[in-house]
Amino acid sequence: MLCRIIAFMSVAAVNVVLSFEDARRVVEGQAELIRASQVGEGRTESVELLAAAGRILFEPVLADRDIPPFARSTRDGYAVRSADLSRLPATLAVIGEIRAGEQFDKIPNNLGSGQAASIMTGAPVPTGADAVVMVEYSSQLDAKSGARVEIRRGVDAGENIVPRGAEARAGACLIERRARMNAAAVALAASAGKAQLQVYKRPRVAVLSTGDELVDVETTPGPTQIRNSNSYSLAAQILSAGGEPVLLGVAPDESQGLRRLIDDGLKADLLLMTGGVSMGRYDLVEQVLTEMSAEFFFTGAKIQPGRPIVFGKCGAGSQSRAGRATYFFGLPGNPVSTMVTFEIFARPVLEALTGQSARKLQFLHARLKREISVKTGLKRFLPAILSGEFEDSQVELVAWQGSGDIAATARANCYIVIPEDRERIAAGEWVAVMRSDW
Ligand code: AMP
Ligand code: MG
Repeated sequence: MLCRIIAFMSVAAVNVVLSFEDARRVVEGQAELIRASQVGEGRTESVELLAAAGRILFEPVLADRDIPPFARSTRDGYAVRSADLSRLPATLAVIGEIRAGEQFDKIPNNLGSGQAASIMTGAPVPTGADAVVMVEYSSQLDAKSGARVEIRRGVDAGENIVPRGAEARAGACLIERRARMNAAAVALAASAGKAQLQVYKRPRVAVLSTGDELVDVETTPGPTQIRNSNSYSLAAQILSAGGEPVLLGVAPDESQGLRRLIDDGLKADLLLMTGGVSMGRYDLVEQVLTEMSAEFFFTGAKIQPGRPIVFGKCGAGSQSRAGRATYFFGLPGNPVSTMVTFEIFARPVLEALTGQSARKLQFLHARLKREISVKTGLKRFLPAILSGEFEDSQVELVAWQGSGDIAATARANCYIVIPEDRERIAAGEWVAVMRSDW
């Protein structure tokens, strides 16, 4: 089905309006093609460990030794032979103390039957011992010398010990190539001694807002003008997805000027345009791209907000790219539509360009606080407030004036996702939620 859509769509700018799911699959398919064609050459850089947080790994991180490198006690207590505790309470002779970091030559060798060694969390377990009893279940019998201990609870063999290499063997892959370095990955790289990491360079994402009514943030708008805000929400989203935004400013609703700026934008790794993709007489983005021999994958999705979204690839219009086509999105100009369509369609393509491995779009679920009534036929992403705590998540729509209402969206922290066949959702029902407070 998808192949047919793509084959059909690669002809010209026709009117191809897909369901949300089909449009998303087209985007995911193109993201896979991007990954398949990615070569390392010139696309990577070496960064210090701390600077690697949030970056995408180019080389896998391997364990430089077994983890843990020795059988590690997970408790403060006594290293014992579990068989010695078959009858309780048991009295054992304490033959030494093992601290975390203790050198091997100071550790009692081959713990015998009837013996125990006092041991701390993170210390190496002596040979001969097969378990650790927590200190809470013991009493020292000779208070001064500590030479004998009474144990009140039994242990299974292996209890409170992580065997050498149980977490990873030397040479094993700890963090895969294309992983995004989160806090745990940074910790793991530190534990493997990686002070420097080879990561993908950030892709450059050109941002072009279109519209004769727009002025930039430094300019005082005339009575019927508005400030360009989409370039800034997009720049923030691009940064959060691992890209480097390149703001190209505002293009006029006039073919020649628009074409010049689009051509400029196609020199980047990805071009995001906002506005000019609806049905108005001055919505020229699709027309100009068609003149530039762009390939269109779709020109609309059955969603609200964001229906007139355009996704395609263009290279022919740009001499400087010598045949290399650049992906572009024409995002609808209404500020909330721009933000939503970036999240659900542009983000996967950008993440592929960053080198990151594929991620499925996943929604949380929460109980609806107040009934919702909508018309059927479109998948909706409506700004909402997720509240509650612990296991009790609740969500309700924010009052808004439609997809131009940035103020309402700024009060929201998520979108409620409403399936296209639902007309009424009662209070108390579980609904899908997409977070927006990255
Ligand atoms: P368009 O998609 O060009 O028809 O624009 C739809 C609505 O979004 C219009 O009300 C525009 O004024 C508004 N709009 C378009 N681009 C921007 C932008 N960059 N910043 C803020 N609002 C915009
Ligand atoms: Mg416009």
